Amino acid sequence: MENTGSGPFSGKVALVTGASSGIGKATALAFARVGARVAVADIAVDGGNQTRRMIEELGGKAIFLRCDVSKESDVASMLHQTIDAFGRIDCAFNNAGIEGAQGSTVDCTEENWDRVLNINLKSAWLCMKYEIPAMLRQGGGVIVNCSSIAGIVGFQNIPAYVASKHGLIGLTKTAALEYAKSKIRINAVCPGVIRTPMIDRFAHGEAQALQQLIAGEPVGRVGEPEEIAAAVLWLCSDGASFVTGHPLVVDGGWVAQ
Ligand code: NAP
Repeated sequence: MENTGSGPFSGKVALVTGASSGIGKATALAFARVGARVAVADIAVDGGNQTRRMIEELGGKAIFLRCDVSKESDVASMLHQTIDAFGRIDCAFNNAGIEGAQGSTVDCTEENWDRVLNINLKSAWLCMKYEIPAMLRQGGGVIVNCSSIAGIVGFQNIPAYVASKHGLIGLTKTAALEYAKSKIRINAVCPGVIRTPMIDRFAHGEAQALQQLIAGEPVGRVGEPEEIAAAVLWLCSDGASFVTGHPLVVDGGWVAQ
């Protein structure tokens, strides 16, 4: 058992959405390992409770909150419950997202477009709408929104996903400017191809499709969720005290090509 009672984030509270799986789960565990108390939020209840239990087994403190991040009432309740449980919110990783259906711009349905934009983009606006007032009340905080390399360059056959991730970067920059003088830093992280259930779905579980994704990575491998967690923790740390409004690409060199 690790003792997470002390560490550079000791006394801090972190909220992570999409924390049942993949990047969110790794980041929730990483926050706990450096001493933060963690609000684990997700629409997936079993996975969320599993992440909570894993943090408790490390000796950390966590709560699980069931939340559909595309619904304002759920997001408002998620923030109220976090403050009720821990009294504050220092770091928020707005990470929950979906890839949606694959198909060209012409083939994308209105239902898919709305679902992807609501869960990937509207969600981050809703989360910030409730996180920022809580951070203003306590005199500051740090927010990281999860964009993607698909927020930097185009990818064929996922138009709604690409639009949502590009939109997230514009939203991040705007909110960062609005609250820069209020000691709230707001950045985005832009992961490359990361080994999570999302990528398995994207590759339809086919080894050949996964090999094609790996072939697109200059470093010759996919990234691990912990490598994104490390970037999020740095953005939330005092080491990034002069960093705001920035889309931080963590992609093994993909967009450098
Ligand atoms: P993941 O393993 O599928 O995890 C996403 C989590 O979000 C799941 O637990 C999912 O629950 C949850 N979720 C889905 N819809 C939600 C909603 N409406 N409200 C609350 N939670 C919801 O995916 P991941 O790869 O870790 O992705 C995390 C983030 O990283 C996403 O924003 C994704 O776009 C971004 N990203 C991933 C990659 C990559 O290569 N993996 C690359 C770039 C960016 P269910 O399982 O029940 O749907």
